[in-house]
Amino acid sequence: MERLLEVKDLSISFGGIKAVQDLNFHIDKGEVLALIGPNGSGKSTTVNMISGVYIQNKGTITFDGKEIPTKMSIADRAKLGIARTFQTPKPFAHLNVFDNIYTIALQQNSKAQAVELTNEILNLTKLYDLKDTKSAKLSIEKRKWMDLARCMATKPKIIMMDEVMAGLNPSEMESSLDLIRTINKEGITVLFIEHVMKAVVSVCTRAIVLNQGKLLCEGEPRTVLNDPQVVAAYLGG
Ligand code: ADP
Ligand code: MG
Repeated sequence: MERLLEVKDLSISFGGIKAVQDLNFHIDKGEVLALIGPNGSGKSTTVNMISGVYIQNKGTITFDGKEIPTKMSIADRAKLGIARTFQTPKPFAHLNVFDNIYTIALQQNSKAQAVELTNEILNLTKLYDLKDTKSAKLSIEKRKWMDLARCMATKPKIIMMDEVMAGLNPSEMESSLDLIRTINKEGITVLFIEHVMKAVVSVCTRAIVLNQGKLLCEGEPRTVLNDPQVVAAYLGG
């Protein structure tokens, strides 16, 4: 297995709070890795450091064999192939679905290429029939799909998905998990932050657990979820 992402001793504090502390983990190419842990355990902060929203106080992030300089911008990290969703999606509400994806595709492609890429992504994400719908009019589920479609428009190597299942009913969750499998089959590695354990078990090959900013344990998803330390962490222990 080839490593896609490796973080070493990654740490960041906000004021006195050590949000992430000496975190070490890796993701292999093609993997769907779950990043789980109670609220406030540092999951979004980790994604924010990898994507360049926050700069770590300590530690390194190596992506596709190269260490990412701490000064590298969010846009340049995106060009390397690092994409992420936000816990609260930030679409262009006034634009339709096509233009939401096209606008991103245009950042790294000619107009003709961007149109082609957008159409490909609309088909792949099964959003084609909604291409003319204003994004503000979409259901929660379809807005999340559009968010993933916008990530795909950067031709990423990895998509870090921050609680993309939140707010979905069981059948929407099933179809969204299918979409994640489709994305993964396209060769895109996935970091899957999720609270719904059924979703984690169904789509992830490995899980890592954070608690209070530190790595608590790591392993096969079902094993990890039954680990007494993990159960205790979720109960606030
Ligand atoms: P999770 O995503 O696992 O729920 P977060 O990564 O959002 O947790 O937060 C981890 C800790 O870092 C929390 O204590 C949170 O309050 C703190 N934190 C995150 N971002 C900031 C920030 N910009 N300023 C201050 N504290 C922050
Ligand atoms: Mg979070």
